[in-house]
Amino acid sequence: MKLTIGLVTSPGTSRANKTGDWRVRRPVFLHKTCTGCLLCQLCCPEGVVYGEAKTFDCDFDYCKGCGICAQVCPVHDIEMELEGE
Ligand code: SF4
Ligand code: SF4
Repeated sequence: MKLTIGLVTSPGTSRANKTGDWRVRRPVFLHKTCTGCLLCQLCCPEGVVYGEAKTFDCDFDYCKGCGICAQVCPVHDIEMELEGE
């Protein structure tokens, strides 16, 4: 796996850096038991979760794979899996 190392010194540049390259694990939105509570969208620190009940997904160009969305989902409708599995 190629790891790019760098430093971002100016604020407001997140759109210019596709931070999804850093990801080791990725969220899988199962679309089975989702109630549309929006917690995954509200808690994602990157603001990359989009959709509505049973259609939520995220922008993998920017998702860092932190797993917070899966942790906060009250009905376990998001699983984390290793990247490339
Ligand atoms: S894994 Fe982290 S960055 Fe990716 S969608 Fe979930 S909360 Fe957002
Ligand atoms: S946290 Fe879970 S139940 Fe709530 S909107 Fe996201 S996927 Fe659906």
